[in-house]
Amino acid sequence: MDTHQIDLVREKIENAAFITVLTGAGISAESGIPTFRGEGGLWKQFKAEELATPEAFRDTPGIVWEWYHWRRELISKKIPNRAHDVLVILETKTPGFTLITQNVDGLHALAGNQNIIELHGTLWKTRCTGCHRVVEERSFTMPLIPTCGVCKMMLRPHVVWFGEGIDSFNLEGSLKACRECEVFLVVGTSSVVQPAASFAALARSEGAFIVEVNVTPALQIRPNISLTGKAADILPQLLA
Ligand code: NAD
Repeated sequence: MDTHQIDLVREKIENAAFITVLTGAGISAESGIPTFRGEGGLWKQFKAEELATPEAFRDTPGIVWEWYHWRRELISKKIPNRAHDVLVILETKTPGFTLITQNVDGLHALAGNQNIIELHGTLWKTRCTGCHRVVEERSFTMPLIPTCGVCKMMLRPHVVWFGEGIDSFNLEGSLKACRECEVFLVVGTSSVVQPAASFAALARSEGAFIVEVNVTPALQIRPNISLTGKAADILPQLLA
């Protein structure tokens, strides 16, 4: 790793009043949570992209629910890693800090970050397919699809599936954070899922310094600095 690059990023971070971080599945890889793309991206014979859709839930709700149940069980035993911890420290040191995550695992909140936008929702909430009531549900004993306590319709995970829109409040908050930041740090995302894949370009167009951390750099634009390696190894080096 080029120490000059690390020094430069550290200096930019230290002097920035507004920092926005975008994370993807890669930041949780070292907590033992499989990413969608790459090793471990398959469950039974299914690809994640085939299961995380409204069509899959409509046609085979039991299978989709079983997959989410499996993920919740898996993730319930996992804890944040050093990369998550660094972002907590960064938040305490930065007056204007926003963490946008595509992850649904809840590990950023567990680590202690406060200003988090969960762009794709969370595994730890359900939403009624009938009355749309959202309920936080951290118990792991839901192997079968539960029904709504009010209207008795099926519950679904409160996540954003492929082909579904992002909650407008979360989207607006994300766009604002991209526009106002001085440093935009992208960690562990394959940059293929929109709209998050375009956030770096937006931040860049407003003058932000763009830093990518990934084992296989994937940003669609050329960042100012690309740090190749594991998030849990690189992020701790970025703190002064
Ligand atoms: P992705 O699976 O498409 O890509 C993961 C990225 O992380 C890849 O670019 C890979 O090179 C990189 N990576 C892997 N290990 C890394 C490490 N140790 N350090 C740094 N980078 C590493 O993930 P994505 O871009 O977030 O995909 C988007 C969708 O995947 C989202 O909708 C998200 O909800 C979902 N997802 C979430 C989780 C989670 O919540 N933990 C897990 C899997 C998938």
